[in-house]
Amino acid sequence: MKLVIVESPSKAKTIEKYLGGDFTVRASVGHIRDLPKSNKDAVDVEAGFVPRYQIVKEKQKVIDELHREAEKADEVILATDPDREGEAIAWHLSETIGLKSPKRIVFNEITESAVQHALQNPRAIDDELVKAQEARRVLDRLFGYDLSGLIWKKVRYGLSAGRVQSPALRILMEREREIRAFVPEKFWVLSADVKTKKGEQFTVICAEEPKTAEEAERVLKAAEGGKWSVIDVEESEASRTPRAPFTTSTLQQAASTRLGYSPSRTMRIAQKLYEAGFITYMRTDSPNLAKEAQAALIATARKEFGEQYVAPRVFKTKSKSAQEAHEAVRPTNPGKRSAGANDEQKKLYELIRARALASQMADAKMLRTKIIANVEGSPIPDFAANGSRVIFDGWLAADPAARGEDVELPKVAAKDPLTLMAAHSEEKETQPPARYSEAGLVKELEKRGIGRPSTYASIIKTLEDRGYVEKQGRTLIPTHTGDVVSSFLEDHFKEYISDTFTAEMEDELDQIAEGKREYEKTLRDFYAPFTKAVKSKNKIEKLTNMGDAPPEFPCPICKGPMVYKLSRTGRFMSCARFPECLGARKEDGSEIAPPKEIGENCPQCKDGKLIEREGRFGRFIACSNYPKCKFVKQDPAEAERAKTGVPCPVCKKGEMVERRGRFGPFFSCSNYPECRNAIKARPTGKICEMCGSLMMAGTKTIPERCSNKTCPMHNPHKLTK
Ligand SMILES: [Zn+2]
Ligand SMILES: [Zn+2]
Ligand SMILES: [Zn+2]
Ligand SMILES: [Zn+2]
Repeated sequence: MKLVIVESPSKAKTIEKYLGGDFTVRASVGHIRDLPKSNKDAVDVEAGFVPRYQIVKEKQKVIDELHREAEKADEVILATDPDREGEAIAWHLSETIGLKSPKRIVFNEITESAVQHALQNPRAIDDELVKAQEARRVLDRLFGYDLSGLIWKKVRYGLSAGRVQSPALRILMEREREIRAFVPEKFWVLSADVKTKKGEQFTVICAEEPKTAEEAERVLKAAEGGKWSVIDVEESEASRTPRAPFTTSTLQQAASTRLGYSPSRTMRIAQKLYEAGFITYMRTDSPNLAKEAQAALIATARKEFGEQYVAPRVFKTKSKSAQEAHEAVRPTNPGKRSAGANDEQKKLYELIRARALASQMADAKMLRTKIIANVEGSPIPDFAANGSRVIFDGWLAADPAARGEDVELPKVAAKDPLTLMAAHSEEKETQPPARYSEAGLVKELEKRGIGRPSTYASIIKTLEDRGYVEKQGRTLIPTHTGDVVSSFLEDHFKEYISDTFTAEMEDELDQIAEGKREYEKTLRDFYAPFTKAVKSKNKIEKLTNMGDAPPEFPCPICKGPMVYKLSRTGRFMSCARFPECLGARKEDGSEIAPPKEIGENCPQCKDGKLIEREGRFGRFIACSNYPKCKFVKQDPAEAERAKTGVPCPVCKKGEMVERRGRFGPFFSCSNYPECRNAIKARPTGKICEMCGSLMMAGTKTIPERCSNKTCPMHNPHKLTK
């Protein structure tokens, strides 16, 4: 028996279809080991930046099972995804299960021929790829840990910084400051509705936009009073060339503009399509097509549209080292017009297919027409109308959504008289630069060499989760918290969050992957000056306020001036005399009830006073030394109600109790903070048969599910066997 291990159950299912009876396919269900959470001991710096991995708790059962299967097997084949992360998972599996010389196979698409071909060409685990991935994890951990620690001390507890997250936030903030500094200017758009002799109407627009009301008035008067005629007609042929097949970045951009999907949603859907065998691997920065894939696309274009539509093209990679995967995102079988288990998958598949097919098709040919008109004697700038018509659709036949509307203009010749129907003058203002959309930020990150295909979506998600940006529609708007954090980092760590530093670091990681750079030296070269820079900022002043509040909001208690401060949920106004005066207002000016001392000392830290505070879920009693002391007084009746009677299976000491969090109620171990076991819904008291986690209440259609999100029993309705 041969054991094949992949990371996801659905990928396992697809592969199983292609392999004979002497193969067993198992899934590790994601990562099995990781660095310990928020613990500096995660990395042994002195020993040469050695990460101290620990097994993900819920995975012990999966690991034991894989171990048993591996013992029985004649051969173990690791078939995780074909990039660095996949290579790292393969290595972790090999280390944890204790495999002796496992075979590593990679395929860019989960199709029968690709899997068979990979099986015939196994290799060993690529240590350099693994090292590069490890370096990224360690680098991110050290960077985030040290810098976040400083921000906690100097700005506010609980904030964070990240090696790639912070440069992305800076890019958003730089644009935000441009918008704030923008001074709009007035201008006027002048247009004239005219009619030909035959009575065909069209609109011409003034080629110049006057900047003063007087000039606009002069042009309008002349336009209304003069005799109009055609000055010239220009006709030209233009072609539109198809774009390259998708990379991760262009896929995320197109799915955002065409389908309104966020980058993380696009990646989730693409992964489903990939695991089902419909598209190639979705994390790639290469627009290349494999020879056979190109031939298949050309054959499909020929069959569907005819010979004159076919135009083979080769697209070159722009990035310096596109080794994350070697091919563009494309359909595995272009003859298949539709694929996917649901509507969103089908839409994304069709977009991917259209783009790949179009890339091997002929240019579209357009006829552009420009009619220039003016009044007799041309006392004002020319007016013009632009028309455009597709004369050969070419690749647009495969991607009609890219076509756009034809604008037809009447047939006229120079000197033809025109009758003015009406002239218009519209006052406008220049607009500040637009904020980035999610797709726009992905494009910008790629352009600046920040992040990689595997990280674009998670960068944006992290910024949102941290409360540094808010999404309005598809637009990303930095919050006050984001502003404060970015400004702090820009003031004190300009170099470390610069484009050059971040891009060079990515390049160095690429060089480790290629075996051209050493792991330990790379990390040492970064870490020594970095820790020094962080230490040198230890004595800077704590950021106590964020500027004066508007004078129309005086302190509700002492009527004195107020200043802006940062709380856990954003900006608020605080009396400038704090802590002597506790007056506070929300951002909108409404009063915040001051915390009340209840006249008891904190039983935990002894020197704090217990105070009653207004929280998101009503009033509660906590220690005045928060966040240093996290003591919260439990109301005995409330504590009784919170009990579930279900013992915690992780520490086997505590009991699961109901708690209230930022996102509503959840259930966690009474033994917190020693035990951090927490689940989203009420535990049913049963234990999951597959992974050993608690089962919890589900929805109407799924009455009970596993609380472990990575366990197949979390979505029992999707299990077929
Ligand atoms: Zn006051
Ligand atoms: Zn206390
Ligand atoms: Zn516990
Ligand atoms: Zn489970």
